[in-house]
Amino acid sequence: MSESGVTTSWQIPEGETREVRTSAAQRRVRRIFEDLGLPPHPTMEELCKAYESKSGRSLYLIEREMQPGAPSGEYERYLTEDRIYYPKGTSPAHQALVQCHELAHLLLGHTLKHDAISPDVVRRVLGRAHYDEPAEFDAEIVGSVLFLELNLEPNEGAAAELAPALTHREGQHA
Ligand SMILES: [Zn+2]
Repeated sequence: MSESGVTTSWQIPEGETREVRTSAAQRRVRRIFEDLGLPPHPTMEELCKAYESKSGRSLYLIEREMQPGAPSGEYERYLTEDRIYYPKGTSPAHQALVQCHELAHLLLGHTLKHDAISPDVVRRVLGRAHYDEPAEFDAEIVGSVLFLELNLEPNEGAAAELAPALTHREGQHA
């Protein structure tokens, strides 16, 4: 090593396991993609389509107004359908992150706690708070990795938001 070659790096505190958990989550996400027959960085649409064909269920991502203080994402399970709700009026990145969190629950095979509801009730409404804590933790980590691994298309990103904003600033009507 040369005398000027001082190398340094960030170190995690003793006993910290987050880094290990994140790479474990990365392996899980990659395995999920493989199991679904997807390429390494699928789009959100490709992921949803693959989930639908594997599960035989329909999956809908629905934008809607969320009450202040309500969970940012919501999930409804129907007999043959899954509906993920994400908040209106936040950034595309935040919306995608919420979608990824809820999708993580589905992709990890998390089950709902309220299975005792009478069979004629086909609509089950859940927010984040209704999951067991470990499932929430997993969905949070795996959802974040999912967010990073997905190829989020430009029309879902900041560039698409920027263009109309610029048009308005110029005071023109397209
Ligand atoms: Zn959750």
